[in-house]
Amino acid sequence: MKSLPVIIAGGGIGGLAAALSLARKGVASIVLERAAELGEIGAGIQIGPNAFHCFDNLGVGDEARAKAVYIDSLRLMDAVSGEPIATIPLDHRFRKRFRNPYAVVHRADLHGVLLDACRNSNLVDLHTSHSVTGYQQDGDSVQAQCEGRKPLLGSALIGADGLRSDIRQQLVGDGEPRVSGHTTYRSVIPTEQMPEDLRWNAATLWAGPKCHIVHYPLKGWELFNLVVTYHNDVTEAVAGKPVNKEEVYRGFEHIAPRARQIIEHGDNWKLWVLCDRNPILDWVDGRVALLGDAAHPMLQYFAQGACMAMEDAVCLGHMFELYQGDVESALDNYVRQRRVRTARVQLDSRLIGEYIYHPDGAAAEVRNHVMSNLTPDQWYDKLGWLYGGTGLDN
Ligand SMILES: Cc1cc2nc3c(=O)[nH]c(=O)nc-3n(C[C@H](O)[C@H](O)[C@H](O)COP(=O)(O)OP(=O)(O)OC[C@H]3O[C@@H](n4cnc5c(N)ncnc54)[C@H](O)[C@@H]3O)c2cc1C
Repeated sequence: MKSLPVIIAGGGIGGLAAALSLARKGVASIVLERAAELGEIGAGIQIGPNAFHCFDNLGVGDEARAKAVYIDSLRLMDAVSGEPIATIPLDHRFRKRFRNPYAVVHRADLHGVLLDACRNSNLVDLHTSHSVTGYQQDGDSVQAQCEGRKPLLGSALIGADGLRSDIRQQLVGDGEPRVSGHTTYRSVIPTEQMPEDLRWNAATLWAGPKCHIVHYPLKGWELFNLVVTYHNDVTEAVAGKPVNKEEVYRGFEHIAPRARQIIEHGDNWKLWVLCDRNPILDWVDGRVALLGDAAHPMLQYFAQGACMAMEDAVCLGHMFELYQGDVESALDNYVRQRRVRTARVQLDSRLIGEYIYHPDGAAAEVRNHVMSNLTPDQWYDKLGWLYGGTGLDN
């Protein structure tokens, strides 16, 4: 049984990182991706120093670093007054403290780095157009059921199949994710289309009552990533629906023109209604475990969903090495190590959405007062638990 590969459902950032991590420990895997092509949506992603620790552990440190844009700061602006609230420097002090930078990267580039490494490994077998619908296990192996195909036999099954994971439905059975009522619109524009006075080398957050705007440069400064979010209490999940500018404007009439103009400069806006789930402690069943958004989907307010998926992957590989051939112990200890940390990020992401991104009135004044008075070291102390992580700690 030892020679059976691990089956991984899902070829997103989490699934590919898991395959690489296992390969680094000499464990073969088969990645089954439902889509006809392996890829990511054309938007940006922020990557904390914890993700860079993971890149090194996955053997793609140089390749990932070459694709990143190294921003100088995380900037918090008051979207109503148009005034700065706080700046967290990401300079040598930050890098010294966390032993790695904070950066932004195009999703396709990040996914591409992981995909190239998987393609170059003779321990990773990639299959597209394979939809995993469920599993059966007998104590010695696990059978992954695939729509319209023969089942595949593996030593373990990792459900890295995202927010609406089919593996989770069998393993946990907690139904549809929670619709947050937050609507996010995304656009990626050429840098020359971005207002000149806002072309900052920063991940900038304009925080306003029930709404916010985020922007940062991408792809060696060729592009700007725009993400604007409106907490409009919608109740239905939507993913990637094209919308016109007028619709995007609707949630931003009450903010300063300087911030609002960003919407005017965007193109080809697309809409997502954000979802997450309540944290759970148990995402393992014998030889089957979840990873990434399948295990702990979160709102994007800490910019950590993909970072957590990569930490999961590093931890998974480590446990396979530690428990050599004892798959059930490896998976059980993987989940034990990951569950509290990822639950904390899930819960904190909701809290910072409410108290930092979207407060109004007195709550917004409290935010401005508290956050504008923090020194860089105080910021680093507050973020140490998160950015210092590697996947090998909890
Ligand atoms: C607006 C927004 C901004 C974000 N910003 C950041 C950020 O700045 N930093 C950060 O770290 N994270 C961010 N995230 C979160 C991040 O995008 C996700 O956490 C991450 O992509 C999850 O990766 P995953 O591989 O677990 O899941 P996914 O990316 O969802 O991949 C799952 C894969 O499984 C496939 N699949 C699904 N079902 C099946 C099946 N039955 N069989 C086979 N394959 C299947 C899918 O096609 C997909 O390829 C953001 C999210 C949002 C919504």
